[in-house]
Amino acid sequence: MRLYLINPLNPTVSLSRVKENRFNKYRIWKPLGLMIIARITPPEWDVTIIDENVRVPDYDSLPRPDLVGLTAFTSQASRAYLLASMFRGKGVPVAMGGIHATMRLAEATENVNAVVTGEAEDAWPEVLDDLASGRLSQVYNGGLVDIERVPPARHDLLSTGYAFGSIQTTRGCPLDCSFCSVTAFNGNRFRWRPIRQVVDEFKLIKENLVLIVDDNLIGTSRKHIARAKELFRAMIDAKIGKRWMCQVTTNMGEDEELVRLAAQAGCFGALIGFESPSNDGLMEINKKYNMRKGQDARSSCRTMQRHGIGVSASFIMGLDVDKPGIGKQIVDRALSCGVDSLNVTMMTPFPGTRLWDTMESQGRIAANSFPEDWKYYTLGFPVANYMHLSWRELLDEWISCLRSFYSYPRILGRFLGAVLRTRKVFANFGLLVTNLIYRRNIKLDQQIHSSFDVSRGIAHGARELGRRDGTKRDLLLDSTSEMRVDISAQSREPTDVSEL
Ligand code: SF4
Repeated sequence: MRLYLINPLNPTVSLSRVKENRFNKYRIWKPLGLMIIARITPPEWDVTIIDENVRVPDYDSLPRPDLVGLTAFTSQASRAYLLASMFRGKGVPVAMGGIHATMRLAEATENVNAVVTGEAEDAWPEVLDDLASGRLSQVYNGGLVDIERVPPARHDLLSTGYAFGSIQTTRGCPLDCSFCSVTAFNGNRFRWRPIRQVVDEFKLIKENLVLIVDDNLIGTSRKHIARAKELFRAMIDAKIGKRWMCQVTTNMGEDEELVRLAAQAGCFGALIGFESPSNDGLMEINKKYNMRKGQDARSSCRTMQRHGIGVSASFIMGLDVDKPGIGKQIVDRALSCGVDSLNVTMMTPFPGTRLWDTMESQGRIAANSFPEDWKYYTLGFPVANYMHLSWRELLDEWISCLRSFYSYPRILGRFLGAVLRTRKVFANFGLLVTNLIYRRNIKLDQQIHSSFDVSRGIAHGARELGRRDGTKRDLLLDSTSEMRVDISAQSREPTDVSEL
């Protein structure tokens, strides 16, 4: 019995699509979910994982499988359905899991034979049993699994083409940001794997660099932080010897012991969701955690950098409070905190989030020709009608923001600042190279955006104003014609991390 587990191509992060993307290996990591599914697939199955983000195979030249399993973030959904159609056309049954299929169940069931919703570990054996007995159901409800029983992934199945291995230590997030689907998918209870299992699994990873894919590695409460310290101590004792990156909240740098242990355990970088430069913005998305009394983001960043952990700040652009000038506000905030790199994403309503519900009820989902338009839900394209910014204005803000942060003088200043702070030159080359790649990606994103039609997105506030004063038609025409201006000089740095 032959099983293909496929991670569909994501048009903006695929290494195979654009030659220049070869510098962007850090933007992809091994598809962990499929590697876990491979582990729990019985040995009578011959399992192959195909990651289209590394290479799209000639499917006609491959042996015919008995089952295809697909996973997909929202941005991969249209490609996933295309693959499903191709394999189903050949009589091969297709099962699909992952966050998008869970949140758009009706759509997914139209396109594949069986959908596994939620966390798939418990439901997958049932799918295989039902297939063997010819009774495949349309929907399998995985729910939330007992994380202590999640087995180690098959790290041996994908050996080349990646800068990063991947591992998961926790699921869920105690916070509840309105734009994020983690709580809806993995629950708001912070669940963690037994530390011994995590340490043992680390030893199975071949890559020297590892992405810990947890949405929030350290959590927020004292108990969470104590568990993170225990994990780092165990990794130090076991001499894991890997260099790893993680996603955390702004609290990490507030506990020097935690930072020291993380660094000793191999942490060299952390992506931190700053999200908005203003308290109004943080209130809007329910990230009040970033407004805690007495917190000092600059001091937290410095603490992490002192221990050799680079800070990458992530901001969202296009919130309802964001007006022209938001790009400069983001740069000012990032510079004042002294972060090492900056990610700016477009506010993207993902299915399953409160943001989606709100925007959909207000008729503001502008890229809404589904499933084709899902490919724009990468965080790197405008997809909704933003309150005060047309698509063109948003892209203008975006590019000016990134160009300003990644100007050559500022890159040099960050590098020299790090050298002076640490009194080490070579240790800071990573920062320099990362910043130069970010800068270079502005051009790559120009290519990607050059074929993107910006005429669909108008400023929602302008439309509402037009409705009220009866000038709707004129406003629409004005903003549409303005948005048809060539945007080939615009770009941004996409990341799909937040969707995880
Ligand atoms: S954005 Fe981050 S902090 Fe907020 S709910 Fe999602 S995972 Fe948690």
